[in-house]
Amino acid sequence: MYDPLHDLSPGCNEAYPESYWANVSGIAPEHDGAVIADLDVDVAIIGAGYTGLSCALHLAREHGIKAHVLEANQTAWGCSGRNAGFILKSSGRKSYGQMAKQWGEEVMRGIYQEMAAGVETVNSLINEGIDCDQQSAGYIKVAHKANKLKELVELAKLQQNMFGYDVEILSQNQVREQYMDDRNAYGAIRYKDGFGVNPLKLAWGYQKLAREAGVKVHCASPVNHWKSQDNKQKLHTPNGIVSAQKVVIATNGYTPKNFHSLITDRTLPVLSQIIVTEPLSEAQIVACNFLTSNVVMDTRALKYYYRKLPDNRILFGGRGAITGKSADDPYYAQRLLSVLKTSFPALANLKYSYAWSGWICMALDDLPHIYQNDEQSVFYSMGYCGSGVAFSVQAGKRLAEKVAEKPVPNLPLYNKALPKFPFAPLRRVGQWGYFHYGKIKDQWF
Ligand SMILES: Cc1cc2nc3c(=O)[nH]c(=O)nc-3n(C[C@H](O)[C@H](O)[C@H](O)COP(=O)(O)OP(=O)(O)OC[C@H]3O[C@@H](n4cnc5c(N)ncnc54)[C@H](O)[C@@H]3O)c2cc1C
Repeated sequence: MYDPLHDLSPGCNEAYPESYWANVSGIAPEHDGAVIADLDVDVAIIGAGYTGLSCALHLAREHGIKAHVLEANQTAWGCSGRNAGFILKSSGRKSYGQMAKQWGEEVMRGIYQEMAAGVETVNSLINEGIDCDQQSAGYIKVAHKANKLKELVELAKLQQNMFGYDVEILSQNQVREQYMDDRNAYGAIRYKDGFGVNPLKLAWGYQKLAREAGVKVHCASPVNHWKSQDNKQKLHTPNGIVSAQKVVIATNGYTPKNFHSLITDRTLPVLSQIIVTEPLSEAQIVACNFLTSNVVMDTRALKYYYRKLPDNRILFGGRGAITGKSADDPYYAQRLLSVLKTSFPALANLKYSYAWSGWICMALDDLPHIYQNDEQSVFYSMGYCGSGVAFSVQAGKRLAEKVAEKPVPNLPLYNKALPKFPFAPLRRVGQWGYFHYGKIKDQWF
């Protein structure tokens, strides 16, 4: 599998992975074909995931700038077509408590507003007619140990007080009787505004809206070399050079090695793995009291997440392999299946039908950053730390404002560059160490 820390290109016109989403979503919508001749454009956006498509859509709709999106493979071939489809009011891994301590309450509230705006924008775009199999609203954050419920209750109170956020506290019995009989659940908090979607159909919907607004989307057009020349950015694709005044890097966890100096050594791509089981029978659903289609995540340092899909399969996810070379080793899918069975022992004979993984993008400070070079000619948005389905849309909107030279909120998300990883060549060793620390923490504390 493509490994962004080792490979110089994610390929050209690679097919979607064999995921549940690729299998159930039907035929991909039309795009504008690969780049087959040299082009001169105002704005080029590299990467046709949510970030790139949202940036293009907002540039066209709000600033009258019709960008060209260059995608190496297929629309949403990266994370945007592979994720679990949880729409959440969050991004990054930094807690609101840490934000308040570091920057004060005003900044913390500002960041919350941006996360909330992401969900609002996703909702309003879906309401324009995107068919993405939206499920019933609710996000359940489960305490995987009794002592974790106390932390969740404190978080709920902070969010209720600071933001007036409607957060429900659920006892262990309430979780098991009203939502699902998860034997690893010791209580939970429940947000009423999270929900699950088909993430690939969502991205295809964004592409359709963007093209209707005048955006050109070129798949099978990897940017393999990049030169800055005569105040222009020259992007070399296999069959044509795209010369752009401004370039947006929207490649996130899929950014190839040494792609651009602005982002070198500033991210850590980490594999997240998903399995989708065979459909549950009525008897199996009853045996685990699996009533809910809400999206569920736990409190572990190395988190597990799951949801019941519209056809009664369970999507279950967690960390994957460390390198691209071992990404397809069935060991990782089997591990997820065995954890799922500890939550639902009645599913002892359940098998999985699909397994795949994708590169999420970690930032050293656990926060996404939307930033640019001094010349205001190259922009990027990265580092959602595995939580970007909703926020990427807001990030794309803010990127568009930056490209159009409009002001954006004065927040660390938008006014600070991604910090560099110290000892960058050893990032994977650090990740391996963190996985071991997380395992011990999750088991013993
Ligand atoms: C298994 C998994 C589960 C997840 N679940 C959730 C979830 O439930 N909720 C949530 O909020 N977040 C989730 N995420 C994270 C979320 O999917 C991402 O944050 C989000 O999709 C990032 O979108 P993006 O557009 O920034 O990047 P991507 O969707 O990764 O798009 C980057 C694109 O850039 C292209 N590219 C790279 N290099 C080049 C080049 N040189 N030339 C041209 N194109 C190039 C790639 O082909 C790719 O299509 C999950 C991620 C994974 C992997």
